[in-house]
Amino acid sequence: MEQVRNQKMGQEHDQVDDMQQHGPFPVENLQASGIASLDIKKLKDAGLCTVESVAYSPRKELLQIKGISEAKVDKIIEAGMFSQFVVVSSKLIPLGFTSASQLHAQRLEIIQLTSGSRELDKVLEGGIETGSITEIYGEFRSGKTQLCHTLCVTCQLPLDQGGGEGKAMYIDAEGTFRPQRLLQIADRFGLNGADVLENVAYARAYNTDHQSRLLLEAASMMVETRFALMIVDSATALYRTDFSGRGELSARQMHLAKFLRSLQKLADEFGVAVVITNQVVAQVDGSAIFAGPQIKPIGGNIMAHASATRLALRKGRGEERICKVISSPCLAEAEARFQISAEGVTDVKD
Ligand code: ATP
Ligand code: MG
Repeated sequence: MEQVRNQKMGQEHDQVDDMQQHGPFPVENLQASGIASLDIKKLKDAGLCTVESVAYSPRKELLQIKGISEAKVDKIIEAGMFSQFVVVSSKLIPLGFTSASQLHAQRLEIIQLTSGSRELDKVLEGGIETGSITEIYGEFRSGKTQLCHTLCVTCQLPLDQGGGEGKAMYIDAEGTFRPQRLLQIADRFGLNGADVLENVAYARAYNTDHQSRLLLEAASMMVETRFALMIVDSATALYRTDFSGRGELSARQMHLAKFLRSLQKLADEFGVAVVITNQVVAQVDGSAIFAGPQIKPIGGNIMAHASATRLALRKGRGEERICKVISSPCLAEAEARFQISAEGVTDVKD
């Protein structure tokens, strides 16, 4: 599914033929199954811009959309399923079972975005995977934001250069996005700086509700144009200030879970690589006595389960940084060294 889409990144969605073959399918397609345009508008206002997003939504969620009755929701679900059925018949979005061999063939085609460092790409077996969530955590100055900046440029590269031939979207919760860094990095890859900046959609998030709302806009923009990358730097910072103390912990985790679920949906629907950064705290428990101060990412189990790949960054000597693969469905727990330089993330130059 997203593999086919990913390969096609760089081409605009408005090529109707392409859409009909590969999706994501605009939610307007439901009109053909008898859903009124007014209801389609309501779906879009709720951030459901594609048939996929409707098909992936639980019924309960559709019921919460204002102005759509229960009977209509059922009709919409049926229409969504029907559209899915058409797709299944062309074997593009298998909502049911597929053979492992077919899945294997599809996974071989998944696009990966180069990190800018060959050594890091090697432990990632290619780079940052599209179609899933990668979490990068580490203490301050460990290079999380720098890696995000580098990816905003590399995602625009052609496929054969480790790119995704798509635009980048950047949600900045910390106010540390710097366009001039992109210009420096673009130079390194021989890209036109002005074009690179034009291809990055930026939004500053001011609170957790705002951060979640931005994802609705993100979805509608992704329907219009090919995006290869979605960055949230950092995904958790605003949660630390919007919710405080034990009393609000469960509300915070629920809000965060919803946010991460929406990000997962973007990854599934549009095949973008979702990269989120996370802060760490010192762990204060018994193990500290034996192993020295340990750090752990914040967000608890909710965060741990939401990200398919978790990478931990730490500082090495000088400009050197070390990235460790902490958890991944298919990568070994390996470490790689890289360096932060004027041109973004690079291999260590010794
Ligand atoms: P935080 O948790 O505070 O957000 P971070 O992990 O996002 O930290 P980064 O901002 O990615 O950290 O990394 C900061 C590091 O990048 C600093 O050590 C800084 O010296 C280095 N750095 C930033 N710009 C450049 C540049 N132009 N050339 C070389 N190194 C740079
Ligand atoms: Mg940062």
